[in-house]
Amino acid sequence: EYKGMSKARMIEIRKQNCNPMTMKVTYYKKPVFIHQGHMQYLWDVDGTRYLDLFAGVATVSVGHCHPKVTAAAEKQLKKLWHTTFIYVYPALQEYCEKLASYLPDPLKVVFLTNSGSEANDLAMFMARLYTGNFDIITLRGSYHGGSPMTMGLTSNAAYKYPVANGLGCTNTMCPDVFRGPWGGRHCRDSPVQTTRDCSCAQGHCAANEQYIKQLKETLATSVPPRIAAFFAEPLQGVGGAVQYPKNYLKEAFKLVRERGGICIADEVQTGFGRTGSHFWGFQGHDVIPDVVTMAKGIGNGFPMGAVVTTPEIAASFAKGVHFNTFGGNPVACAVASAVLDTIIEDGTQKNSLDVGTYLMTELAKLRDKYEIIGDVRGKGLQIGVEMVKDKTSRDLLPPEDFAEIFEDVKDMGVLIGKGGVYGQIFRIKPPMCITKEDADFFLAVFNKSIHNYMEKR
Ligand code: PMP
Repeated sequence: EYKGMSKARMIEIRKQNCNPMTMKVTYYKKPVFIHQGHMQYLWDVDGTRYLDLFAGVATVSVGHCHPKVTAAAEKQLKKLWHTTFIYVYPALQEYCEKLASYLPDPLKVVFLTNSGSEANDLAMFMARLYTGNFDIITLRGSYHGGSPMTMGLTSNAAYKYPVANGLGCTNTMCPDVFRGPWGGRHCRDSPVQTTRDCSCAQGHCAANEQYIKQLKETLATSVPPRIAAFFAEPLQGVGGAVQYPKNYLKEAFKLVRERGGICIADEVQTGFGRTGSHFWGFQGHDVIPDVVTMAKGIGNGFPMGAVVTTPEIAASFAKGVHFNTFGGNPVACAVASAVLDTIIEDGTQKNSLDVGTYLMTELAKLRDKYEIIGDVRGKGLQIGVEMVKDKTSRDLLPPEDFAEIFEDVKDMGVLIGKGGVYGQIFRIKPPMCITKEDADFFLAVFNKSIHNYMEKR
């Protein structure tokens, strides 16, 4: 039972003493006042239970307050919390060795940070140090961080500020087979394809060819002949689970490497089994990046991030001294180590694949039923549902209508997310422990909320 501060007082303090952004991102017209979490559920201060289908974005991978992770944190909290540098303690070595064992050769050197933005800042710095080049290319619609350095990588006006940022960062066209001009009905690696046709012949994706042509044009016109890096999320997160055509990353990596750049996979949202078929999102694209960045799910909610690279690239730091006081501190390492063990012990990746595939397949049936569901896509438990006025025009569903459905879903007990460059995509990214019954509950709620909206329209 909750006996803490009143809701009104919390809002008052939030307005007066907290970062004003915390008011802007309360997300709902009627905010949710969270009090407690367990696995895939959250309880508000009034005791109402919510099925949390958006905890993944807030870093929870294996479940809110997962008992095994909590026990590991408690044990380490009673033993040692200190800085990462100066002294040697076992938790760091144990974790780095364990994390490296999940990555293919030659990705074996681990740098630990406290967040995703910090990890991507470090990866940018690393790429520039190693290559001696400066320019970096990312995809439109991407989110790689909110620090002034990573804001340049991020390509979504909602997260940009008019301050000096992104010097040397250029964005190229996002290969989005639903919203982009070339369709791509058979092109993405998802249980559900887009309904938009393209002129694909067997084994050949015409849309992909067009997107690669766009990247070639960016390389020919917007950057110097040699670049430092190309960053990509294997499956866009904040951008709304946008999936690229099957060979896109493979061909893009080749073009970038030909121009002296290294390839960086931002696995902040897609890592740790979320995409179901593989432990890392990049493995679904049949590529091996030069650098992989991680955060969020790595610590199941504990602030942590990582950059993993090759010994050769890591050696660039030998030119100076680089350290991070708390990145990889003993508590973070103990927690993250327990997260990796839990993913294996709980069969988390397989659950992501099974429940995610089921959810997407059922959502596709709702897409076929309702004119305002334009696209369903994703892999494992990273799912996007793009809302439109109608399927023919693909015009955006008006924001107030989108918000109405979003609020209705919450009022029926399910928390989902939103995203996309135009804020038109529902995002489903639950803790990876959700069950088929949870999926069925959400499907019933989502169906009802769309039905309610259509009746009024
Ligand atoms: N990369 C991706 C793909 C992300 O989604 C985010 C956060 N939404 C970040 C980086 C930045 O992480 P953080 O908020 O921990 O700095």
